[in-house]
Amino acid sequence: MDLTWLGTAGFIIKTKDTEIAFDPFLSRGQGKPSPFSSKSFENTEAIFVGHGHFDHTYDIPEIVAGSDLNVFAPGLTGKMLKMRGVPESRLLHTVNDEILFKPLKMRAFHSSHVHFDIPLIVSTVKRCGVKGCLHMLPLVTGYPKGLVQTYFFEVNGKKVLFASTAGCTDRELNIYRKLEIDYFLAPVQGNTDIQEIVAKQMMIIQPKVIIPHHHDDFYPPLSQEISLGIFRDKLKFLGFKGELLEIPLFDSSQI
Ligand SMILES: [Zn+2]
Repeated sequence: MDLTWLGTAGFIIKTKDTEIAFDPFLSRGQGKPSPFSSKSFENTEAIFVGHGHFDHTYDIPEIVAGSDLNVFAPGLTGKMLKMRGVPESRLLHTVNDEILFKPLKMRAFHSSHVHFDIPLIVSTVKRCGVKGCLHMLPLVTGYPKGLVQTYFFEVNGKKVLFASTAGCTDRELNIYRKLEIDYFLAPVQGNTDIQEIVAKQMMIIQPKVIIPHHHDDFYPPLSQEISLGIFRDKLKFLGFKGELLEIPLFDSSQI
């Protein structure tokens, strides 16, 4: 399969049978401009949404307007997308107890959001200043998180798990470990100690390959780039035996 990292938690995944996307976010504000547009999704059959925050859903109505694709979204996030103009006929409610998309045997798991810790909130507010905070307010309050889902799918016998945020519960971590995941698309953003948090999760899940995402400076000054060097060091320190595959921003990898 071909995996393109769109920045933030966004991916386009192409297999010989289908093409899907996760959490596409292209409007990067003052961040490095995205080379992708609605046209990039002309062959995409479905978008799967991890949670409702703006950096996961903002661009979906425009992408849907220019294509035939369907959107799988959990609870409130689906309702918000409908309010923002996504036709009801194109919205599918994400449930946990059935195969959502047959070509990839796609399933969803209920998850949790990573905890935004106080030092992170304080440093973010300082970086944004009064003007920045006023600009960000509608983006933060107008796009509620809603339910959080991870997505698990298979291509040619390879098992892939996509997480949009690093808030896995202990129960989830044990479920994922039993799935024997080959590729974990791991979000590295949202807490001062995010590298350590995700590294510890990886030690439980034990995927063969970790593909980090969301560590880019996706919407400055709200965001900042997260060091993957520190993440690599934490994994090494904990004795992680798998591989860390870094896809450069806006780039693709064949896996
Ligand atoms: Zn979020």
